Amino acid sequence: MNNYFVILAAGKSKRFHKKLAKQFYKYKNKEIIDHSIEKSLNSKLFKKILIVTNNLNYLKKKKYPKTITIIKGGKERSDSSLMAIKYIKKYKPKNIFIHDAARPNFSIKLLKNLLKNLKNNKAVVPIVSSKDSIKYKIKNQIFNLNKKNSLLTQTPQAFRFKELYNLAINEKNKISDEATLFINNNHKIKFISGENRNNKITFLNDVESTQTYFGIGFDIHKLVKNKKLYLGGVKIPFHSGLEGHSDGDVILHATIDAILGAIRKKDIGTYYPNTKKLKNIRSPKMLKPIMSSLYKSNFFINNLDINLICEQPKVSKFRDKIINSISKLTTLNKDQINLKGKTVEKLGLIGKEKAIACEVIISISKYD
Ligand code: ZN
Repeated sequence: MNNYFVILAAGKSKRFHKKLAKQFYKYKNKEIIDHSIEKSLNSKLFKKILIVTNNLNYLKKKKYPKTITIIKGGKERSDSSLMAIKYIKKYKPKNIFIHDAARPNFSIKLLKNLLKNLKNNKAVVPIVSSKDSIKYKIKNQIFNLNKKNSLLTQTPQAFRFKELYNLAINEKNKISDEATLFINNNHKIKFISGENRNNKITFLNDVESTQTYFGIGFDIHKLVKNKKLYLGGVKIPFHSGLEGHSDGDVILHATIDAILGAIRKKDIGTYYPNTKKLKNIRSPKMLKPIMSSLYKSNFFINNLDINLICEQPKVSKFRDKIINSISKLTTLNKDQINLKGKTVEKLGLIGKEKAIACEVIISISKYD
């Protein structure tokens, strides 16, 4: 197991976030770089994992296992890569993998496949075909590149150390990846299938577009005589209505709380306190600004699931009307909304028709 894994994380990521270096941005609950570190550790294929970075102090605070060594990087990617290759030489490695921290989505299976192919080859590089048409420019003229013959190289790339070392120390140009060294010097590369999901994270929305959130809401109101009953914005004929500072619409209140939960913006009481000004406010009016704030933050709703908890009225009688109303208020399609009626076996205050409760769960995602 004389294999070494190099993670290049010295980039300044100009196209990404203004302040935070890309490799330290949170993605799938971890910093981008930690995905690569964990996978290379868990694969148990490597004697040492070398991180090349210009954020030495930040990374040294993280207390990684001993297998991991952190060294300072250079100005360009090719400088950092050369620094790593020179640093590792003293360990007399057999194989070296070079990887960009900005590709957190490779699999351990790919690592194993690279190593297997390294037995009979000196360079193994994962490639995928291009999904976009590629053009190239010479002076002011643009030419088509045949898509079938265009290959996109990914990382990690795996090499016999000796071969890579000799090519790297003699290279005068700034190279974009180590495969380039082999190609420029007419050395053979074994290309294997890369992974489409192992894209390079370049822009902030590459990481943000994948996030989904859930929110939960609950509400209960007392039933009182001489008040109109509103559920989901629909007036329902009933012997009582829901008491409250507003119209007491438990479905819309629980929906508002579910949305606020999902966008992590506190609760309904924060925006609608029991003030004189808001006395008898209708709940669709309360929902409207919450919906705008959801859409303004570039979220969209995947689905809404509602449990209405009451003995009477029977939900089946009003289900279509209520779903129709919520669909209009939220601009959701009707098939994204589900309404379930739940009785409580005549138990407690809800069972005695003294109160109605509602719970709502919502799933939202961010636009690309
Ligand atoms: Zn309420």
